[in-house]
Amino acid sequence: MHLSVEGLRVMITAGAAGIGRAIAEAFLEEGARVHVCDVDESALDAFAQAFPDARVTRADVSSVEDVDACFEQAMAWLGGLDVLINNAGIAGPTGRIEDISPQDWERTLAININGQFYCARRAVPLLKDAGGGSIINISSTAGIMGFPLRTPYAASKWAVVGFTKSLSMELGEFGIRVNAICPGAVAGPRIDRVIAADAAARGLPVETVRQSALNQNALKEFIQPESVAREALFLCSPMGRQITGQAIAVDGDTDSLRTRH
Ligand code: NAD
Repeated sequence: MHLSVEGLRVMITAGAAGIGRAIAEAFLEEGARVHVCDVDESALDAFAQAFPDARVTRADVSSVEDVDACFEQAMAWLGGLDVLINNAGIAGPTGRIEDISPQDWERTLAININGQFYCARRAVPLLKDAGGGSIINISSTAGIMGFPLRTPYAASKWAVVGFTKSLSMELGEFGIRVNAICPGAVAGPRIDRVIAADAAARGLPVETVRQSALNQNALKEFIQPESVAREALFLCSPMGRQITGQAIAVDGDTDSLRTRH
């Protein structure tokens, strides 16, 4: 399959590790030009060493100033934009609503949804100048079903889907497609932390919660970051030419009703 993303100018937020890094690697392998931002300097250094063809900027997506500076730097090199991957997002707190602090709530929404807005408002004029392009907003299965004890995260990820669908309608006439990808539980250190926090909040053994998470998935396995990356590649390629406004799960068919503690 020839994806024809060669030469596309791509910005990926939180691209130094995890899913964002897998997306960056996939686009680089297909010949795209990639600029990555991340808040973690040491992760950025490791990324820059591994992928010398890419460029990096330290930026916290919840800061308008950081995002603006990142776009300035990226445009000095890329000279325009064809693809924005709004990937940055934190897990947020795990706990009952009465135990969640307003600060934790606000921080989760600041990164997970405000950050996508700060990046999209900079990207859209560039995508219009390019005559079209693609935005991928990373949501989650927590953006298509309820997630008890993770209300800030679920609220932010449902917000991502509403943002995506509205932007798709607003931008279609400019040839700009906007889709959300909703990963299920992705293998890696983050899901280990999420499971440990869930087990603590529920007073259950970690292994019980891990099995329960696996059981929700029809394939009984955690999602690989590369699976999310391939979906992003496809959507941004000419193969995805008529796909917009969708919230597409890459989750092994996760269903919260399959598990009850
Ligand atoms: P991660 O926790 O592994 O972090 C990836 C990178 O994000 C890190 O390098 C980190 O420094 C960076 N980052 C964190 N906050 C940032 C900020 N404010 N600004 C810029 N960079 C920041 O994350 P991940 O698991 O790769 O998740 C990526 C996206 O996928 C997120 O939006 C997440 O909500 C979503 N997601 C993840 C899972 C999962 O199981 N891991 C499941 C569904 C959706």
